[in-house]
Amino acid sequence: MKVFNTLSRTKEEFEPLEQGKVKMYVCGPTVYNFIHIGNARPMIVFDTVRRYFEYKGYEVNYVSNFTDVDDKIINKAIEEGVDASVISERYIAECKKDMEGMNVKPATTHPLATREIGGMIRMIQTLIDKGYAYRADDGTVYYRTRKFKDYGKLSHKNLEDLQAGHREIKVVGEKEDDLDFVLWKPKKDGEPYWESPWCQGRPGWHIECSVMAKHYLGDEIDIHAGGEDLIFPHHENEIAQSEAANGVPFSKYWMHNAFLNIDNRKMSKSLGNFFTVREISEKYDLQVLRLFMLSAHYRSPLNFSAELMEASKNGLERILTAVERLGERIGAASGDEMTSDEEAVKAQAEALKEKYEAAMDDDFNTADAISAVFELVKLANTSVTEESTKALALYMKDTITSLCDVLGIITERKEELLEADIEALIEERQQARKNKDFARADEIRDTLAAKGILLKDTREGVKWTRA
Ligand code: AMP
Ligand code: ZN
Repeated sequence: MKVFNTLSRTKEEFEPLEQGKVKMYVCGPTVYNFIHIGNARPMIVFDTVRRYFEYKGYEVNYVSNFTDVDDKIINKAIEEGVDASVISERYIAECKKDMEGMNVKPATTHPLATREIGGMIRMIQTLIDKGYAYRADDGTVYYRTRKFKDYGKLSHKNLEDLQAGHREIKVVGEKEDDLDFVLWKPKKDGEPYWESPWCQGRPGWHIECSVMAKHYLGDEIDIHAGGEDLIFPHHENEIAQSEAANGVPFSKYWMHNAFLNIDNRKMSKSLGNFFTVREISEKYDLQVLRLFMLSAHYRSPLNFSAELMEASKNGLERILTAVERLGERIGAASGDEMTSDEEAVKAQAEALKEKYEAAMDDDFNTADAISAVFELVKLANTSVTEESTKALALYMKDTITSLCDVLGIITERKEELLEADIEALIEERQQARKNKDFARADEIRDTLAAKGILLKDTREGVKWTRA
């Protein structure tokens, strides 16, 4: 299996630290709002990486954090007049709902930064003891960047270039050097804080991930992953902290997904082209979003557009319809052994399965893997007929389902109605009532009730709930 390693900028053969096991850390979101579809890309991509390792028989210890102390969370808490933990707990719960909708497996552990402060204090103290960190007079603890000889090895930057980029910036506080970064910072009024040997304060962002990875996976891990914006400075700084403190290489492989853009432009709130996963879920089954995300290689930029989502919707529909039809054939057909013609079909399917695996073995090329699934769907549509044995129908259904499962695509059709469909039916019912077509209005209410949607007529209009 080949994995592109940002450290070497090449595809390398994957060799785990421990036979049959993968220790993997993926930087998670900062929880101050609903996650956006950009955040969904690493979640879906690395969940698929995990699933493929599991398919290959590896036991995967998958750790992904929630950053639950940060300026953005604190600002939102001040805005709403609540405690920062109210904000982070709310959006962790919402994020977990979105993950479930996207069929992203829960991590083995989802650590929270605020629960790991003790470990952070210990690692910072180790760095101070080893001469890699120092306390400034105001209580801030800085990392002494120049002391770490390998600094820049991940982002392929050298200290001179970095220094040049920093020249305009004034020396902040009492930093020894512009390149030094914060490990611990003093509290400001109204901010959450913890006691430490240096001052009452809170950790810097980079130390959080070094410590959570160490706590749940150990000093040396197989894969560290996240979006490409994290290569510098976040991951570069994590390497500096972990390797200086632990004295061993931190992660063997570093994987980074490229960015998701919208209509060929960078996603941003000011451009108004910013979608949360929740918004998308009102219009589409989130499986469509998942298939869309995997339709490109994870290291290629991906453009989100209505047309591409429609294409993924149709693609998903083709898979679901084929599997549904195979299910019907299994119910109707007999014959536990394939005929010799069917054995030939099976051989063709096996070749497509190999094509799929070869694509995934080549740095998780999900785009090519999905093409192989569509070829398999086509083969099933043309070769499984009313004359086919149950054995062939079963084999085809199992093969498609298991390969889709690695991509996190569930091949059972969901009966659940989308919010947009529910709203449209309610609107139609209102119209029917206006037209005094009460039979149609009742029919719509019954249709919704059969799908577990209960309507309540209130003075503010029709409200609905899922039973
Ligand atoms: P954040 O909450 O900003 O720390 O981001 C959480 C994760 O989402 C990180 O791995 C980011 O690299 C990733 N991410 C943020 N925006 C995008 C985007 N537009 N496309 C792909 N990944 C993104
Ligand atoms: Zn991180």
